[in-house]
Amino acid sequence: MRTFTVAILLCLVAACSADKVPAPSPGPTFTPERFRAHVAFLADDLLEGRDTGSRGHEIAARYVASQFDSYGLQPGGTGGWFQQVPFQKTTRGADKGSITVTGPNGAKRYQHGDNALIGISARETKVDLAAPLVFAGYGIEDERLGIDDYQGLDVKDCVVVVLRGYPKGLPTEEGAHISATKGKVAQKHGALGVIVIATLQFEKVFPWEKMLEYSNDPDFDWVEADGKAHSEAPLLRAGGSLNAPAAETLFAGAERSFADVRAEADKDKGAPRGFPLKTTVRIQGEGAWERVTSPNVIAILPGSDPALSKEYIVLSAHLDHLGIKDVPNSKPGDDRIYNGAMDNGTGIATLLEVARAAAEATDKPKRSMIFLATTAEEKGLLGADYYAHNPTVPIAQIVGNVDLDMPLLTYEFTDVVAFGSNHSNIAKFVEQAVAPMDVKLMADPMPEQGIFTRSDHYQFVRQGVPAVFLMTGYGNGGEKAWGEFQGEYYHSPKDDMSQKFDWRAGAKFAEANYRITRAMADSKTPPLWYSGDYFGDVFAPEAARAER
Ligand SMILES: [Zn+2]
Repeated sequence: MRTFTVAILLCLVAACSADKVPAPSPGPTFTPERFRAHVAFLADDLLEGRDTGSRGHEIAARYVASQFDSYGLQPGGTGGWFQQVPFQKTTRGADKGSITVTGPNGAKRYQHGDNALIGISARETKVDLAAPLVFAGYGIEDERLGIDDYQGLDVKDCVVVVLRGYPKGLPTEEGAHISATKGKVAQKHGALGVIVIATLQFEKVFPWEKMLEYSNDPDFDWVEADGKAHSEAPLLRAGGSLNAPAAETLFAGAERSFADVRAEADKDKGAPRGFPLKTTVRIQGEGAWERVTSPNVIAILPGSDPALSKEYIVLSAHLDHLGIKDVPNSKPGDDRIYNGAMDNGTGIATLLEVARAAAEATDKPKRSMIFLATTAEEKGLLGADYYAHNPTVPIAQIVGNVDLDMPLLTYEFTDVVAFGSNHSNIAKFVEQAVAPMDVKLMADPMPEQGIFTRSDHYQFVRQGVPAVFLMTGYGNGGEKAWGEFQGEYYHSPKDDMSQKFDWRAGAKFAEANYRITRAMADSKTPPLWYSGDYFGDVFAPEAARAER
């Protein structure tokens, strides 16, 4: 009788949990000490800020590979643990470049770093381009959103002038995405160059002086098999931006003034229509090229299920940071090492701890898992983009990605944010996986930032893979902690080990991510885009869908 009752009870328990995400078997443990050890190594001054292509980054890459090795994972690179990414580093030449505007009021020449910022070409060492100008509104074309800024405009062999950003009131993530496609759209219409001018709203958030801070950083692009720098719009020969006083001269003698156009753009849904300008432009500049190689570090844990193991869940985090350089407005002797303890030492520590736990688990994950430590995230999500274009397993077999970038671990978080959670059902995996830890999934607290398009996972999204970027949330003091971090420590030499870390929160975040990635690896169906979702429709039109 007794035995029978126990059997029924067991049965009920099993039936109960079958509806939920399968709980990982007891086994893997997560300790604050282990988490701290990873961050302390990566954020040491001797690693010199882990800049792409630097010795410090190479040492960090060896550390990650050596950890992967010690966990018993398989190398997942192109030769061992590494996928070497070839980059072209483009540095501004002695002639920093200029934009000359000629119109009814004569000619005006604007120098780079003054009233103009000029992009250095990665495809021509010396650029000298003269062309008529056409204003093309925001320079956006998107059928799904019903926007066609080029309608009725002939911009062939012209330089187009476009407003930065996207019309007020557009969904922010879609807006951020289409903003990043302006070059491609201009190229499609036959333009030779793009000049970007700021809206009133953008100027408030990002004043011109702030833009100038980055004006002399070199550019990085990954290199295609044909030896050329990868570009989304290779036929565009020149580009740049002008500040407001200089932008005004572009509109001299035109049917509407710059002020008029900007006032319209400042209204809700305001989207000024384009028109030909009465001015012409000459854009000049020169640059020098150099080859740099820097690795992505990749490990694979083969799945245990014969069928599901053909599918891969990718957990990614960037290993690079900003290196050693002068801080704007610094004094001699000030700290110049950007240690990047939080950006992204804590993300890599989480990735390593999840990799270790998954490898140690007595019940192995059903799907295969890829652990990807990317390079050149700070240069524009380049290591991840290279991987997504040159995956070491077929991209169609990668069914989901969770990216970790800068989890803030200075407080005991009680919720997490999954940027991108309204696009695919990964959010459901996250929500259910962290519930037993008394951790909640909170909605995007900063939708205006368009974070979904701003870290490595977005490169997987662009290849059609459902992805989220996972971060610690605003509860239990999180909002205040985030405010302080953003204001004082983000992208500063102060992001080092002297911050007030809560290493228990590190262990907890590692466990949360272990549960999340396990849920994705063990579920019967893989993560799916929601039906009707913009990003799913754009990048994975053929893929199966989930209902909301
Ligand atoms: Zn960063």
